Amino acid sequence: MTERVFVFADEEELFSVMKDIDCLYCRNPVTASKHHLKKRHLRFAIYYKDSGIGKFSIPCYCSDGGHGRSHWHCPMCLKILQRTKDYKIHITNHGVEMTDKSTVELQPTTVLLESIQTDNEDKTPANNKSACQKCGILFTTTSNLRRHERLQHSQDQQPILCIDAKNAIYVTPKDLHGPRVPIHIRKSFTLQILLCELEECWDFMKAQAQSGNPGKECRHLVRSNHARHYAPPPSLCVNSLEEMTDKHLLSTSEKQECQEMNSRACIEGVDCVYPIFWGEHDLSERCVYFSVYTDLEDKWCQFGRTRVSFDTKSGNWKCLCERRRQRCIHKCLSMWWLFQERLELLQNALDVNAKRDAVLEEVVMDVDVVKMSPEGDDLC
Ligand SMILES: [Zn+2]
Ligand SMILES: [Zn+2]
Ligand SMILES: [Zn+2]
Ligand SMILES: [Zn+2]
Ligand SMILES: [Zn+2]
Ligand SMILES: [Zn+2]
Repeated sequence: MTERVFVFADEEELFSVMKDIDCLYCRNPVTASKHHLKKRHLRFAIYYKDSGIGKFSIPCYCSDGGHGRSHWHCPMCLKILQRTKDYKIHITNHGVEMTDKSTVELQPTTVLLESIQTDNEDKTPANNKSACQKCGILFTTTSNLRRHERLQHSQDQQPILCIDAKNAIYVTPKDLHGPRVPIHIRKSFTLQILLCELEECWDFMKAQAQSGNPGKECRHLVRSNHARHYAPPPSLCVNSLEEMTDKHLLSTSEKQECQEMNSRACIEGVDCVYPIFWGEHDLSERCVYFSVYTDLEDKWCQFGRTRVSFDTKSGNWKCLCERRRQRCIHKCLSMWWLFQERLELLQNALDVNAKRDAVLEEVVMDVDVVKMSPEGDDLC
């Protein structure tokens, strides 16, 4: 079998690689005609610059991706990535610069199913000038678009907050688009720490160190240069916890657990619950996040903290711990904070859930009134 290449400098190169043979990037045998290559691969190509040289990658449908699903092979480290978005981030971390001009994030599999719109796609409409290339939102003026791009999608504008000065822990959005799910990073010169929670960043920094670039920071760590200094959030009070238990929002054992975890965090000198409202930083405020103390370190809480997400619209809660979608101590702690400080946000969710329960005519126990993750569309 011919050695497969995953990066090309021009289309002719791609055509000539597979002259008169079956496509090397498809699972099922199909002649690698120009037509096929254009239709299944080139249409979705990702263009970028590597040390100033224009190159492109094409999506692959070989069996490595499982069931013929589209995926991307990184030409630099041979890692396979399923999602276009992830692949772009991945190769950006290798140091290439995106030059892709497509307005929408084309996910090959999705688009292939809708073969109808195939032919018109290359003709960019003339009035498309003011559409954000990252999220597709339309703007009436170019200056509004510029402003939006600067605030929403530029790497150096992403908020980053110090949430634990003692252990040098910060939170910052993982991505530059969509719900800004925060991740934890740790950075301290005195403690000699440079850590990001994401495995891909870990891989990236390791690869950089091996190629003679130690101390190279991932896209999240570099943001710490403009981090907001630690500001203590309102701390949790026992009174509000009592009130929640009286209202049957928490069971007695949950109340006990919450209290214990909060005291342990206090002894450690850290905040048990640190709320993250990106709305205060010009980003969408629909989802509220919490960095919650876990009193242990594990894969899901590498720095002794987990992330709890609360969708204020659907009322859904999520946590990174094993109990992901069920009730867990971390969600209870976050709910405690929200109940005490921002009751109105919790109230909406309670109403939504109460209505949903009424419709379903479910018999619910009191403690289940706040459903942790009912059916419905999640955003974060
Ligand atoms: Zn093919
Ligand atoms: Zn493949
Ligand atoms: Zn790679
Ligand atoms: Zn945008
Ligand atoms: Zn990172
Ligand atoms: Zn949890």
